[in-house]
Amino acid sequence: CGIVGYIGNNDSKEILLKGLEKLEYRGYDSAGIAVMNDTGVHVFKEKGRIADLREIVDLGVMANTGIGHTRWATHGVPSKVNAHPHQSSTTRLTLVHNGVIENYDLLKKEYLQNVHFESDTDTEVIVQLIDLFVSEGLEVEAAFRKTLKLLKGSYALALLDSQNNETIFVAKNKSPLLVGLGDGFNVVASDAMAMLQVTNQYVELMDKEVVIVTKDEVTIQNLEGETITRAPYTAELDA
Ligand code: GLU
Repeated sequence: CGIVGYIGNNDSKEILLKGLEKLEYRGYDSAGIAVMNDTGVHVFKEKGRIADLREIVDLGVMANTGIGHTRWATHGVPSKVNAHPHQSSTTRLTLVHNGVIENYDLLKKEYLQNVHFESDTDTEVIVQLIDLFVSEGLEVEAAFRKTLKLLKGSYALALLDSQNNETIFVAKNKSPLLVGLGDGFNVVASDAMAMLQVTNQYVELMDKEVVIVTKDEVTIQNLEGETITRAPYTAELDA
C-alpha cells in the first residue's frame, strides 16, 4: 500500500520507519524494511502495526541504504511471510511492491518452475524473475528492465541488489511513485507526504520508467535504457 526508500550519508532505519508511519492512515496489514550495508541486506518484517515492526528492528544494524513497505494484501493472507520486502532464493535481490501483477501465475509456470517460493504473493514472482535473468548473465539493471517488459498489471517497485549497496532501483506502472531529492541523499516514496520531513523536492515518475537512485544522482530511463530528463517540483506540506 505504501513504499519508502532512502540512500545517503545517514542511517536509514529511522527515516524509513517514520516514513511508513506517515503512510499508516492509508491502511495496511503488515510492514517491513530492508536495509543494506557492507555486511549485506537485513530484512525486518512483521504482521500488524509499524509499532510492532519497530520492536523487531535491530537498532545495532547501521545502514545508509534501505527500502520500506506497508502491505495491503491482495495475493496471500496477511502474515509475516507474505509481508514485504521479498527476497529471491539466492537472497541477492530484495523487493517491495505496491499493486497487483495480473499474470504472475503464467510467469511462474513459464519461467520459474524450478524455483522454491517462500510466500504466496504475486510480488515474489517479480524478484525471482529478476534473479533468474541475473543468473543467466544479465546485469541487475538489464534483468530489471527485461522483467518489467513481462509484467502485466500495476506496480510501484523498489529493489536492492546485495552486491551493490550504492543503488536503489525503482520503477512504476499505474501505481504512484516519486523520487525525492536531497543534499547528500535521495529518497523514494509512493506519496511525498511520507518523506516531506527530509525533502520537498520531488521528481514524478511516469509509467514504465526505471530510475537508478544513488545518494548523489537520480537517473531516469525508459525500458530501452535511454536516459530521460525531468525537472523536480516543490511539494507543499498539505499536498
Ligand atoms: N499484491 C501485493 C501483495 O499482495 C502488494 C499489495 C500492496 O500493494 O500492498 O503482497
